[in-house]
Amino acid sequence: MTGPEQVPQVSLRGVSAGYARTVVLSQLDLDIPPLTVTAVMGPNGSGKSTLLGLLAGVIPATSGTVVHRTGVRPAFVVQRSAVTDALPLTAREAVAMGRWGRLGPFRRPSSEDRRAVESSMERLDVADLAERQLGELSGGQRQRVLVAQGLAQGADLLLLDEPAGALDNSARETITRILDEVAAEGVTVVQATHDITAARRAGHCLLLDGGRVVAAGPPPEILEGTERERLPQPFARR
Ligand code: ADP
Ligand code: MG
Repeated sequence: MTGPEQVPQVSLRGVSAGYARTVVLSQLDLDIPPLTVTAVMGPNGSGKSTLLGLLAGVIPATSGTVVHRTGVRPAFVVQRSAVTDALPLTAREAVAMGRWGRLGPFRRPSSEDRRAVESSMERLDVADLAERQLGELSGGQRQRVLVAQGLAQGADLLLLDEPAGALDNSARETITRILDEVAAEGVTVVQATHDITAARRAGHCLLLDGGRVVAAGPPPEILEGTERERLPQPFARR
């Protein structure tokens, strides 16, 4: 461990977590490498969303230790839901919510806040949609607005729960490319995904099953190497 690029963004040791009556993650040991994209994969119910919630700090660890490299609050783009789809907000208002955690006592956005909102919208190519209601947007547009909201937070850890779920290939490809760029600019990105193409392009890959890490490492090893027979469907297929 020498340079900052070798200190994990987040380190989990012996971490268990879950919900009131359910233990979901048990005894996890894992590191999230900094300044790259980590793809979290695994079948439905394997604990991907719970792990992201834990990394975001919204789900507490019931045992073990969670160490973050910095004290900056992570940005968390939750899984797309009926709730986010129905929010009575314009796209710009939704992106501006990403700045709420930083607003001062009078909750008035500064010029820096406004700049972060506009540049995040441009980044995700949704500036043209700024005045439109979220509910009027296509799935791909709305998803890009939610990613822009996460980006606008200016966090050094960006967590996304299936950001390209239910999108077509071209919209998916756009989001993958933007996340690559964001990581290259110095943000650690963790995304839960079922998209094998996105996972292949990631810098690191975690494979969950039954709330445990069954494989972790560079995507070529995890996705195509000797671990292949351990991959749940549809990952084992090509
Ligand atoms: P994934 O994102 O991989 O589909 P989740 O983390 O959402 O997996 O779920 C892991 C397990 O936790 C599942 O068994 C699920 O039923 C359970 N679970 C998820 N959310 C809750 C909750 N709010 N309360 C109780 N159990 C939950
Ligand atoms: Mg999930």
